[in-house]
Amino acid sequence: MIKYKLFCKNCDKNFDSWFASSIEFEKIKRMKLLNCHQCNSKNIVKSLMAPNILNSKKEEKLIENKKHSKIKNKIREYQKFIKKNFEYVGDNFAYEARTLHYSKDKSKKNIYGNSNLKEVKELKEEGIETEIIPWVKDLDN
Ligand SMILES: [Zn+2]
Repeated sequence: MIKYKLFCKNCDKNFDSWFASSIEFEKIKRMKLLNCHQCNSKNIVKSLMAPNILNSKKEEKLIENKKHSKIKNKIREYQKFIKKNFEYVGDNFAYEARTLHYSKDKSKKNIYGNSNLKEVKELKEEGIETEIIPWVKDLDN
């Protein structure tokens, strides 16, 4: 079964009707068996705002949102790991990364903090291992 939103050009009424299939709908329309529920006019067109199209749009949005929250959860997991294993250095990231890189102390310390693309690029050019990860705020749901 398929539901169509129909529109009567004669009295401007919108109404829904069920059909066995789109082919059946075309047949009924061709045979002029389609008439308005309100004024009986045969001047009926299929409305472009078919409810099944609206629904799939809505579903698309839902799927899109789900995808987003999946990615967000991944980032959150990543953040948790970093917060646990890395030391936060705030806005001094580039400075701290450099200090670590050039210090004689070779004990591996991991740090994380805020930086900008230019600084990260410079760090990479100096051979300092740096990764950029997207960060979501804790309260941002
Ligand atoms: Zn009508």
